[in-house]
Amino acid sequence: MSLLSLPVATLGTPRIGPRRELKFALESYWAGKISEQQLLEDASGLRAANWARQKSLGVTVIPSNDFSLYDQVLDTSVMVGAIPEIYASKGESVSLKTYFAMARGSQCDDQDASCGLGPRGSGAPAQEMTKWFDTNYHYMVPEFYKGQGFRLCSRKPIEEYVEAKALGFQTRPVLIGPVTFLKLGKSADSAFQPLSLLDDLIPVYIDVLHELAERGASWVQFDEPCLVLDLNEAVRKSLLHAYNRFAKEGPAIKIMVASYFGELGDNLDTALSLPVSGLHFDLVRAPELLDKIVAVGRSDLVMSLGVIDGRNVWRSNLSSLRQRLEPAIAKLGKHRVQLAPSCSLLHVPVDVELETGLTSDVKSWLAFSVQKMRELAILARALAGDQNVGLALADSECAATARRTSPKIHDANVATRMRAIDQTMRRRASPFARRSEIQRARFGLPAFPTTTIGSFPQTREVRNARAAHALGAMSDEQYRRFIKEEIARAVRWQEDIGLDVLVHGEFERNDMVQYFGEQLGGFLFTRKGWVQSYGSRCVRPPILFGDVVRSKPITVDWWCYAQSLTSKPMKAMLTGPVTILNWSFVRDDIPRSEVCRQLALAIRDEVRDLENAGAAMIQIDEAALREGLPLRRSEWKAYLDWAGECFRICSSGVADQTQIHTHMCYSEFNDIIGAIAAMDADVISIETSRSKMELLDAFSKYDYPNQIGPGVYDIHSPRVPEVGEMQELMVLARTRLQEWQLWVNPDCGLKTRNWEEVRPALTNMVAAARELRAAS
Ligand code: GLN
Ligand code: ZN
Repeated sequence: MSLLSLPVATLGTPRIGPRRELKFALESYWAGKISEQQLLEDASGLRAANWARQKSLGVTVIPSNDFSLYDQVLDTSVMVGAIPEIYASKGESVSLKTYFAMARGSQCDDQDASCGLGPRGSGAPAQEMTKWFDTNYHYMVPEFYKGQGFRLCSRKPIEEYVEAKALGFQTRPVLIGPVTFLKLGKSADSAFQPLSLLDDLIPVYIDVLHELAERGASWVQFDEPCLVLDLNEAVRKSLLHAYNRFAKEGPAIKIMVASYFGELGDNLDTALSLPVSGLHFDLVRAPELLDKIVAVGRSDLVMSLGVIDGRNVWRSNLSSLRQRLEPAIAKLGKHRVQLAPSCSLLHVPVDVELETGLTSDVKSWLAFSVQKMRELAILARALAGDQNVGLALADSECAATARRTSPKIHDANVATRMRAIDQTMRRRASPFARRSEIQRARFGLPAFPTTTIGSFPQTREVRNARAAHALGAMSDEQYRRFIKEEIARAVRWQEDIGLDVLVHGEFERNDMVQYFGEQLGGFLFTRKGWVQSYGSRCVRPPILFGDVVRSKPITVDWWCYAQSLTSKPMKAMLTGPVTILNWSFVRDDIPRSEVCRQLALAIRDEVRDLENAGAAMIQIDEAALREGLPLRRSEWKAYLDWAGECFRICSSGVADQTQIHTHMCYSEFNDIIGAIAAMDADVISIETSRSKMELLDAFSKYDYPNQIGPGVYDIHSPRVPEVGEMQELMVLARTRLQEWQLWVNPDCGLKTRNWEEVRPALTNMVAAARELRAAS
């Protein structure tokens, strides 16, 4: 470390590798192509490179145990021995097979002792997976039960600390804090509170702390992002209790408690009274925390200031950051400050320099993990008084100014249209009751009309053709002809099996967000900007950097072609603005709600063009609407208001006789049903088959007024549902809603399935609808 610098921490880093090396190693291992030994060597090579990279970039507080072969929450479950019986490991330490069985399910049989599968010898399902706070990272949900004991079953944090030390890196091991860990878990007995296990869990953590201290660790980082959630008094007490026990019973090791992803609000006092040596705060999501921290009278606390955005891809203006931080640091004292990203860098891609297809101006506005570390190192020197970084500061200020004023970002037409949004643009001309009468007369559909959610299997041929087209090996003309043939075949087949409302199948789309992003102005796409989504799976989110401009229709030609093949209604298929927003990296110079309105105007234009071309039914998918809910309940209403408004901007430009559909993937609707109803879609399809239609309770309690297609076919499973099962699900639906409200459809799109599954499943679905009609 240069003498003139503050400490720089990273909290955690992307572990997949700059070229997704971990992904390829894992998948080779799972396919039996490389040995366990090879996998472990590859992983340790990645860790070594990662530590060295951080050091060379000027990071001084380097984390260890932020690496994972699959997921850090799963690592924690394994560390403390929270391993459900079906995966029960027979040995003292947990085998890699058991670990991956928890992560991905297992096929191995009980002949294989190392697999250690318990009663369900022939195979175990994977643990449940869910989103890590409001990120797109998915973790494996820990499972707890009453009377559960814990013991140290994996020494991973210690091993990785020792491994780094042997390579010459003094690291700060990262552990998920015990309260966050328990809070993220679930129990088969819904009345059971996992937090009641805290006192049994703490000794395992204390063992880890002792070992780390003995090996020479001076600090550990405990991630407690639950501090940004709505907590009750019991949870706050648990936090105090846990860290009091660490202080009393643990070794003399310093603890940094990290909160991130938001404001601490009424949990701030709890955080500030923890008997620990340091606290980390997310000052990007909660800038106002800075003043509060400065005012705290605890001179023993090191404050880790999370000032570089760990959730987004924009380069910072270091000059203005310096100005903002200088007075605060003067008050705190330099010895009490560390600089850090707002959260782990896991959520951003690795390195902008790997991008070869970006123009140099746009590239200079971006900062991925590597660039963010460099930014922190420069800022740390500037704040310590090092004059030699003046040029770098000026540079970052220039880039910020260039971005702010770039004509690539601002479009006068968009600004004018944004100002012109008024009430009439947010409301259908007539209320649903009137529209539905008109639509009923227009379409003359039978009871329980059948349809699908949009996509049909993305077969290898379809993906190969797209890849060939992208590489230029297939001409535009050839590609279009290929897609048209796919559409024609799908349309013919849908007519044959007797579906009532057809779709074109979305064969031309790589991804429901990327496809639209690629055709709208304001988006850019990276080549290597991968971010881990779960396990070996990575996504490359579009980057929405400027005003959203739709210069020409996107889907109209494909729709026209598909409709020309049939006299049945061909439902047009669009991705909604909220979903595009939630699955992209979004510009941070204007509020997200504004960006969403811009997207809504673009989709509205597409909807109107489709209507003008003759589309009578148009589906606007809002798959990601619910997952965009803020972490704090107090912020839900504002989000739902503008999200709903944006949907209505898209859907309200059409005549009463045009039927607007929407679709939402698995969502818990109880808390948001009012907002869903306010979207006023004529028909909504939702994912319900696994819940045995219980998700419909929210709709029936609310007296949901419009039409609904509750999914009867679980598209996440290769299983083909029987006619009777689907019929039974619809009978359950009918006990909750009125018959005229109901449509029959699968849970979601069928792009991940193959035709061998889809053909019998949809044939059965149509048969189920016919039986229902006959019986009603
Ligand atoms: N229309 C999209 C499809 O069928 C919807 C996908 C989704 O909801 N995730 O694939
Ligand atoms: Zn879906």
